[in-house]
Amino acid sequence: MKSKGYFGNYGGVFVPETIIPALEELEIAFIKYSKDKTFKTEFENLLQTYVGRPTPLYFANRLTEHYSKAKIFLKREDLCHTGAHKINNCIGQALLAKRLGKRRIIAETGAGQHGLATATVCALFGFECEIYMGKVDIKRQELNVFKMQLLGAKVIPVESGSQTLKDATNEAIRDWITNIKDTHYIIGSTVGPHPYPTIVSFFQSVIGNELKKQLKKDPTYIVACVGGGSNSMGIFYPYLNNVRTYHVKPKLIGVEAGGTSLKNGHNAATLTLGKPGILHGSYSYLLQDKNGMIKEAHSISAGLDYPGVGPQHSYLKDKNMVQYKTISDKEAIEAFYQLSKLEGIIPAIESSHALAYLKYLMPKTKKNETVVVNLSGRGDKDINTVKSLK
Ligand SMILES: *Cc1c(COP(=O)(O)O)cnc(C)c1O
Repeated sequence: MKSKGYFGNYGGVFVPETIIPALEELEIAFIKYSKDKTFKTEFENLLQTYVGRPTPLYFANRLTEHYSKAKIFLKREDLCHTGAHKINNCIGQALLAKRLGKRRIIAETGAGQHGLATATVCALFGFECEIYMGKVDIKRQELNVFKMQLLGAKVIPVESGSQTLKDATNEAIRDWITNIKDTHYIIGSTVGPHPYPTIVSFFQSVIGNELKKQLKKDPTYIVACVGGGSNSMGIFYPYLNNVRTYHVKPKLIGVEAGGTSLKNGHNAATLTLGKPGILHGSYSYLLQDKNGMIKEAHSISAGLDYPGVGPQHSYLKDKNMVQYKTISDKEAIEAFYQLSKLEGIIPAIESSHALAYLKYLMPKTKKNETVVVNLSGRGDKDINTVKSLK
């Protein structure tokens, strides 16, 4: 079925009929409230007083000295409440759910980061909250499961398939079909059927809008990691118009997880190696085998470990408006140590992928140029992963 919500050929609504009314209802609410003054004030007020926005734009002096080229700035999403950018979108969607009169929220989670952000906003709004999570992931992420329960959420183990994120997503969709009247499904990235990619980009665009105000002159480069694509869409958002009008500035760079290697299949380099297909309700680049079966993704960072990517990114890739690169697990870990030692900031391993790309980018830059890296999250959650590599 082809309908609204396309970016070139990508996006769309590929879902069971029973979900369509809820998606339409959500789209109408989004169109109405994204222009509504009271809604916007409430959103901005929570971002300010609960999330801690605006997040600082930090000049990374020692990292800049290390390369002795362009000035490097970090957009500090790691300082958001709950430790990453995901909360921006969760608050926006919770506000929409409230306007729609829905009091029950469901979500799926892999490593638990989106589950945690969702459980947090449900406590904030007094919503009932159920999080679908693969049984394997529940074992791997004990601490996050405990945190979600502490926040009042129910974590539902998914025992089908590989018992990971993909299966949890299927179960969440099944739940939504059954409980569509009183339930809102919070999707955590710029993925899923229309209108989700548009809604998530809109709520995350606060990152780029703040950056525009914080830097007097547009930066020369903006670098962000790409999992589903939400922190990158958020920071690129206000600059994409420039690109369309052929202002070459700033150059936008999305960094995917190259995993252990691009050659052995153990990666999550969806835009670099994938082909378009349908997953979780939309048409976009996907990691798939010769027969169109979805391949399992691999990345050392749970947040990038997804075989799909948002439809906007597929479009931006084909149009050459954003350059997509890959960084391996090993390079990301090197960057994790580098930022910790040079700046006293322990980055999320996801964000470390964007940081690691600096070693390729910086030699090409000039002293009077500026580079902004979106530091999408903090590394506290990753300490055990990094420790176990020693
Ligand atoms: C989830 C996550 C990501 C990846 O998701 P996007 O939607 O691509 O932004 C990146 N960084 C952190 C810290 C995350 O938690």
